[in-house]
Amino acid sequence: MNEPIYVTKPAMPPLDEYMAELSGIWDSRILTNTGPKHQALEAALCKFFGVPYFYLFTNGHLALEAALQVLNLPRGSEVITTPFTFVSTSAAIARMGLTPVFCDVKDGDGTMNPALIESLITPRTRAIMPVHVYGNLCDTDEIDGIAARHGLKVVYDAAHAFSVTRKADGKSAGVFGDISMFSFHATKVFHTFEGGGLAFSNPEFAAKLAGLRNFGFADGEVAGLGGNGKMSEAHAAMGLCNLRHVGNYIAERRRVFELYTERLSDCPGIKIIAPDADINSNYSYFPIRVDAGRFGKTRDEVCEALAGENIYARKYFYPLTSAMPIYREQSDISATPVAAKLADEVLTLPLYPDLDKADADRICEAVLRSGKR
Ligand SMILES: *Cc1c(COP(=O)(O)O)cnc(C)c1O
Repeated sequence: MNEPIYVTKPAMPPLDEYMAELSGIWDSRILTNTGPKHQALEAALCKFFGVPYFYLFTNGHLALEAALQVLNLPRGSEVITTPFTFVSTSAAIARMGLTPVFCDVKDGDGTMNPALIESLITPRTRAIMPVHVYGNLCDTDEIDGIAARHGLKVVYDAAHAFSVTRKADGKSAGVFGDISMFSFHATKVFHTFEGGGLAFSNPEFAAKLAGLRNFGFADGEVAGLGGNGKMSEAHAAMGLCNLRHVGNYIAERRRVFELYTERLSDCPGIKIIAPDADINSNYSYFPIRVDAGRFGKTRDEVCEALAGENIYARKYFYPLTSAMPIYREQSDISATPVAAKLADEVLTLPLYPDLDKADADRICEAVLRSGKR
């Protein structure tokens, strides 16, 4: 049996670089509470995203909850979001006492369909939370425009969009809406083991978010109801190392992406969800859609056939979050037919910087063979 190939493998900087960062921590004895590594990483990320503020958090999910909390929306407010996402997006909304309202997505790139948003607005709608799926940017100008016309806030789940920029004006994924959340989880393009953060420009959010991340402390007093979302110095140190190498990581991802594209683009019944032409992609995922009618096998059968060859692809995203038991009573997946079809057809193939050509070939052959059995 061939060696197993998993859907992802975290990118690692050279160990000696990380050890050098750690030795600074041994010298300073500052382990957390916005220490020097934390400050250096936040400053570097502000520059990287072109934003006035970037706040690090323990992980992306807690950052997303804090982003909603700082908006101070009345309990029970509706937040228009998408069901074609990771469980975290809808969970953050529901855990903050808000109600997710599911909007369908565009067939091409899986991001929220702006043409449908206005039909979902009710007197209780207060915010929109779209997702830059696979690093493809949402129609940000349209979404932000709708929000402005209706007095709504926008929080982007930009967990997939590290380093993605718009070709036309070079804008990063961090500058749209009111706040954008990035995840630095081990499986993401850029990681800090676990981690995440918020990009934003409103100075009022800055003071409040500092409190929300640190037990509500402001100027030495507890001014609000905060949690603990602080990133440690060891995590920030990993971020400083990975930031030096992330350009290489993305170049290597692109190499794998192009190998796959070459082998799979002419296969009837397999459709690659390619990065939008108007962005500089980070090649974070390699999603394909399996059209069972033309390919001869369903997505699930392809996924099982790959697993039979020790290749572990992922049904990302399946199921829709709106189909999960916690939301099923208040939502109906037939209301988002495009998302439902995507969730049934999509499969993301293994993609990480050091996936070599032999493994990429082995994966492509296994995909192509699976249709013929
Ligand atoms: C990874 C991810 C999150 C959660 O981020 P964590 O850092 O793992 O907490 C949220 N939304 C999406 C779309 C993600 O992919």
